[in-house]
Amino acid sequence: CIFCKIVAGDIPAKRLYEDDALIAFHDIRPQAKVHFLIVPKAHIETLKTCNDSHTELLGRMLLLAPKLAAEQGLFGFKTVMHVEREGGQEVFHIHLHVLGGGPVA
Ligand code: AMP
Ligand code: ZN
Repeated sequence: CIFCKIVAGDIPAKRLYEDDALIAFHDIRPQAKVHFLIVPKAHIETLKTCNDSHTELLGRMLLLAPKLAAEQGLFGFKTVMHVEREGGQEVFHIHLHVLGGGPVA
């Protein structure tokens, strides 16, 4: 899994945050001036495979978004999580997109 490889440091990424459970890095194909991903270190395929044991992790992902967005200079932003191919998911390791700052120049 490509995101597991980024977590392990085997593939480079422009990281902006790391703690015991999460990392965040800039999206390689940004869809906005600021576009980063908040990713759990644990491999979880989709939001659909989450259950009550993931409540804290999912809460931490969401609550990290405004903190990192502010550090990136954003006042407002958009969060997106794609679920399954039908929902636009390409990487099957859950991640929260955070986008803001207007369209890519
Ligand atoms: P999704 O469609 O929600 O699965 O989004 C996957 C996202 O991961 C896309 O926006 C990709 O541009 C991004 N992505 C894929 N590979 C990398 C990578 N090596 N480093 C950073 N972002 C990546
Ligand atoms: Zn993974």
